[in-house]
Amino acid sequence: MKTVGDIVLELKSEFTVDVLDEDACRAWFLRKLHLHGAHCPECGREVVSERKLATFWGLGRVKCSDESCNKTFSALTGTVLSGLGIEFRALYLLLFMAGCGVNVNRIAPQLGISVSAAYLWAKKAKPMRGGVDA
Ligand SMILES: [Zn+2]
Repeated sequence: MKTVGDIVLELKSEFTVDVLDEDACRAWFLRKLHLHGAHCPECGREVVSERKLATFWGLGRVKCSDESCNKTFSALTGTVLSGLGIEFRALYLLLFMAGCGVNVNRIAPQLGISVSAAYLWAKKAKPMRGGVDA
């Protein structure tokens, strides 16, 4: 019979980002980035059209409705997550694990991302948590 300790060992060796839902993690990050709703990063005009809001929260590009602005942007444009390049669920776990002091060289293979990507995002998180043990 397996013990809880056996299960913990299996969990540590088989842990992947597949345990998290990408859409839920994306929604979590976007809520943190846009506490006051969707706005144009150029002129600040609020996105009010339901169609544009669905596109915005789905990470599609929308065009500012201010005719003097006309900027095209996504929910990541002009934010700290611009150019993300890894899944939101990978970032979620990466920041959590890095925040718990796990070395990025151990995090990267568990999340299926490159060590350089893991180091980059853990380094960006440094001011938020006080140190990266890369
Ligand atoms: Zn605008």
